[in-house]
Formats: sequence, structure tokens, C-alpha cells
Amino acid sequence: MRKNYLLTPGPTPLPPQVMEAMARPIIHHRTPQFQEILIEATEGIKYVFQTSGDVFILASSGTGAMEAAVINLLSPGDTALLIQGGKFGERWTEICKAYGINAEVLDVEWGKAVDFKDIEKRLKANPNIKVVFTTHCETSTGVVNDIEAIGNVVKNTHAVLVVDAISGLGAIDLKTDAWGCDLVVSGSQKGLMLPPGLGFISVSAKAWKMIEASKSVRYYFDLRKSKKAIDKNDTPFTPAITLIIALVEALRIIKQDGLENIFRRHRKMADATRAAMKALGLELFAPTAASDVVTSVKAPVGIDGEKLVKTMRDTYGVTIAGGQDELKGKVFRIAHMGFIEEFDIIAGISCLEKVLTQMGYKFQMGSGVKAAEEIFLK
Ligand SMILES: *Cc1c(COP(=O)(O)O)cnc(C)c1O
Repeated sequence: MRKNYLLTPGPTPLPPQVMEAMARPIIHHRTPQFQEILIEATEGIKYVFQTSGDVFILASSGTGAMEAAVINLLSPGDTALLIQGGKFGERWTEICKAYGINAEVLDVEWGKAVDFKDIEKRLKANPNIKVVFTTHCETSTGVVNDIEAIGNVVKNTHAVLVVDAISGLGAIDLKTDAWGCDLVVSGSQKGLMLPPGLGFISVSAKAWKMIEASKSVRYYFDLRKSKKAIDKNDTPFTPAITLIIALVEALRIIKQDGLENIFRRHRKMADATRAAMKALGLELFAPTAASDVVTSVKAPVGIDGEKLVKTMRDTYGVTIAGGQDELKGKVFRIAHMGFIEEFDIIAGISCLEKVLTQMGYKFQMGSGVKAAEEIFLK
């Protein structure tokens, strides 16, 4: 037997209350009993989104919510601006292209945040842009983008702002209404401490106008259907009943802890992780816009990042993530989001130190753990 630690940017560990909720007997969804649950879930998720507008709960992974955003807002031939600074920014482009959207790509160097002024320039240069697709935390690089600054630019135009907050929601601050985010998408298996299987999507009044006007073909992810149903505390199709029951438990935890405290906890875990990497002589991949949910670290010269991740996982049961695509083998990513606390981080750093030592990397043993502990003692 071996104890496993999950320090990946989705899925993330589950609190016992969430696991217990999923073990309950199934109930029928067209009942007053489930209606009550759906109301609590919908109200609770609005608190996490920091919105008073509509938020829909979809039976899909996060990408389903991304696809819903594209097909509800845009018709084939429409133009969108895509901010592409990593694998998940690229996903927006792929979805848009699949649906015949005219994709204007704003390429951002991987590991850097987008400059809102570049978005401003592109919007001025092309008044046909109807939607700006952004990523809050670009999980592939560990970068957090300044959505507030981008929101300030987009809200003065006729374009709507779409934010992929799949990895950041409920872990780092995202003020949907105050920052002018028209459509925010998320998923269950990251900051929200649930298994994969739920997608979330919020819709502003400005976005609703575009959704109503869109001529695109849509069925399962037609948000007009979702809206009609939720106004009667219902869903258009069979919802993921068990996951929604579990969501209610996760939302109760979030509400009890309070968003501000949760953000502070994530900041502290990120600070500790970053301090540990520095103490180990390792370089962050995104030093200037490092997100508080996942830390990406350059594998040191002579150390194969893939092998490091594999050894930590297969020999010691500590799962972190490797690099994706062009970063494969070059970076590793330690996630600190959701149901993760100080001693999970210590275990992760301790295991990293052990495997780095075995792989021949030279450093002062224990220095990473010590640096993290010093942050936690503050
Ligand atoms: C995980 C993730 C996704 C993909 O979500 P799925 O649930 O795997 O479909 C998209 N964007 C970001 C930023 C993510 O972190």
C-alpha cells in the first residue's frame, strides 16, 4: 500500500464531505428535493463567480463550457480575438476554427502575461471583433493574466469579454461583475474541489444580447434552453445529479471559509512553493506573472523533467504535472489549488528534493522545505 498525494492542476483532491455526498443514494431530478439542491448550488456558485447574473451548471468538463461560449456567442464568419499564451489559449482558437469563426490571434510569449494595451490596439484596429477570448490562469505555463485591466478595455467597446477561469475559479480572485467579464467558464475538478464532470458558465446582460442574436447551430449547449429551464429551477436535460449534490457540499465549505481567506491561503501556498524553488536553486518558468494556483518550474540543466515527474509519481506516490507540448520535459508544475494545505506542499517539496538528489542535482538537502516552512510560519 502507498499513500498518494495529488498536486496536479486538475483533478485536485476531494474533501471528505464531498466524497460522502457522492456515496448517497441517487435521487430523481424532477422533484422538489432536487430543486432545492439546484437552487442552493446555483446561488452558491454565483457567490464564487462574484456575480449577480446567470450561472449555468453543465454536464461536461471545462472544455464543454468553452465550446458553449463559442457557439452561443458567435455565428460562422464572425470575428473573434484570441489571446494565445499557452495550451489553453490555443484551445480557444481551435474551438473557434472548428466552428468557422474568423480567428484573429494575439500571440503572447509562453510564460508571459498579455499586455492589455495590445488588446486595446487590436480592438481599435479591427472593429469587427465581436468577442475577446482570454485565459485567467494559463495552467500550461503558470501565468495569471490581469483580467481586471483587460475588462476595463473591453467594457468600453461593443465586444464581449470571455474568460477561461477553469483553473483559477474559487482559488484566486475573479470579480465577474466588477471587472466586466461577460462570460466566464469554469470546471469542477480544479479550485472547486470536485471530480471532473461539471462545467460552469456565467452570462452578463451584454452577452445575452449577442447570444439572442447569434445564428449559430446549437442544441445540447444552447444557453437559451438553460435559461428557460433555470427560471423554473430546472435543467433542460438530466443534470449530473450526484456531482451537483457534491457541489453543494463544496460550496458550503467555500462559503464557510470565505473567498478572501481562500485566496489568502492560495497566495501563501504559492509563496511557500516559490520560495522553496528559489532555495533549491531552481528557476520559475513564469517569474513575472506567477499564478497562485500552479507553479511552473524549469527543470535544471541535465535533469529530465519527465523522468522527475514520473519518479515522484511511480516511486513515491506524489503526483505533480509535467510540461505540455513545447514545454514537455523542460518544466514541471506543482499545483496548490483546492483542497490542499501547508503539509501537502511540504510533502511535495520534500519528495521533489529526494528525487532531485537521486538524479544527481546538487543542492543543500532540506533547504526547500525550510524555505517553505519559513513562509508558513509568518
Ligand atoms: C484544465 C483546464 C482546461 C480544460 O478543462 P477540461 O475540464 O479538461 O475540459 C481549460 N482551461 C484551463 C485554463 C484549464 O486549466
